[in-house]
Parts: sequence; structure tokens; C-alpha cells
Amino acid sequence: MDGRTKIRVSCCGDIYWITALNVAGRMVQLLYVQRTVAAYIQSLSVVGTSARKSSLADFNGELALKFFDRGVVVSTIFLDRDGVINENRADYVKSWQEFRFLAGSREAIARLTQAGHRIIVCTNQAAIARGQVSRETVEDIHQRMLASIAEYGGMIEKVYYCPHGKDENCICRKPRPGMLLRAQKELNINMHDAIFIGDSITDVRAGLAAGVHTMLVLTGLGIEQFRVHHHEANGPFRIALNLRHASESILQGFHLHADAPSLLERACYSMLGMSKGERVDSLDVYV
Ligand SMILES: [Mg+2]
Ligand SMILES: [Zn+2]
Repeated sequence: MDGRTKIRVSCCGDIYWITALNVAGRMVQLLYVQRTVAAYIQSLSVVGTSARKSSLADFNGELALKFFDRGVVVSTIFLDRDGVINENRADYVKSWQEFRFLAGSREAIARLTQAGHRIIVCTNQAAIARGQVSRETVEDIHQRMLASIAEYGGMIEKVYYCPHGKDENCICRKPRPGMLLRAQKELNINMHDAIFIGDSITDVRAGLAAGVHTMLVLTGLGIEQFRVHHHEANGPFRIALNLRHASESILQGFHLHADAPSLLERACYSMLGMSKGERVDSLDVYV
């Protein structure tokens, strides 16, 4: 890191967005994002999608974890499938051969399982309605997915899927909360300490409609969904970079300490290996 680095800590509500920029304004590091409001669209346009994507890959989640207490304790975790556990495909996952786990997703599920969390998957599979894949194949994919996750020490209690098309007006297709409410009844889940993690605003909406906490991951469709559809959420949601980061946040608890801005400021300096006032053009903290 050269001497012409600028760090920006933006804060809006309880969302913190920390970027380190070089003098040309190119982002070189992104530290943390937590909960969202529309104001963050501005940050996205500053940072630029491709730069963000590359920095997301370099993200070191450990630094951010220090800033959380255990304000929110989650017991049940609902997960979307495509874009959260496995890679999205534009032409849908039609066979086990096309199913690719996202890096770290099985490990994250295993850590959550071992910490005692119940994990349930709720996924829209409209490809069934369109005849692109059969119910039997989807169920076969799910069995293999569960077996592979089990090899890592993870346990998914049940997979709910909506086989209907967009126009069928069913109660289960997200953004409707039907799958979550069915799980609530069938598996006797307390929704007050549950969270839904997905890569689409429709996941966030389904979670909010079901009365659970929600989190958008930036894998899969997440970045684009956040950029274009963040205002359609109908309520607050948290952001995590990927399922690993989401699971770390859950294991640590969600709430920021009251002195988070100064802690974050210090973290920025330490991240860059600097002491305060040294070799930094400016540090802006917006609260
Ligand atoms: Mg998805
Ligand atoms: Zn349905």
C-alpha cells in the first residue's frame, strides 16, 4: 500500500461501508457492509462493479468480526439454494452434473450445524413448470447436495422447493412466504429468531413477509440485485459477502458496538499497516 491511499468509512444508519482508495479513486480494499438503505447505491457507483467484485474475492472477514456483539441470536437459518449454496446458471441447474457448490458454502453450513443451528432450504424451481427439469431430477439433485454437505459435517433439515411458474399465482413462489410458513408449521420453528439468507431481493421480501431477519449475500445474483433492486425490499436487510461471511456474522452476533466508527477507523489503519495520521491523505467518517 503506498502513501497515497485514502480511506473512507461511510455510515448510514447502522450500515458501515469501508473502502480504501488510491489517489486515482480506484478501490483497493473493501472492509465491511452491514444492513442497507438506499444511500448505498451511491457507494456502489463510486466503487464500480468490477473493482468491487475483485476486492470481494480478497476480502478478509476476520477483521470485521471484532466489531460485533451478540445482540441478535439466531437459531434457525433458512437458505436460498442457487447463488447461495451453489452457482447460478442462466439456463438453470438441470442435473447434478451442472450443480457446482460455491467456494466455502459447505464449510459454512457445517460450522452453523456444529454451532447448533437448524438449517432449511427454500428454493424456487420454476424450471420444473417450464418442463426444463423434472421433479424427480430436482429431488435427486437435493439428495446429492445434502449428502455432499453431510460429508463436510453439515446438516440441512429439509429442502422446500416451489415447482410452479411465475404465472401460476401459487402461495409458495418467493417473494411470497409460503415455503417459510410451511416450514414454520411442519418443523415448529420460532420465526422471531430465524433468518433467511438469499441472493435475490425476492428472498429478502419472502423473509420479511414471513417475519424473519433477512440477509442478502453478494454471490450469485446478489451484487446486481442489490444495485438495481435494493429499494424493493420493503424493509431492512443485512448484507454479507458470501455464505461464509454470513455464517461468521451469525456466529458472532449482528449488532455493532456503539463505538464502532472509531473501532472501524482504527481497523482501517491497522489493515493498511499504518499508524493514524501517517501516509494517509484523508479519512472521512460520515455518521
Ligand atoms: Mg438465488
Ligand atoms: Zn409455488
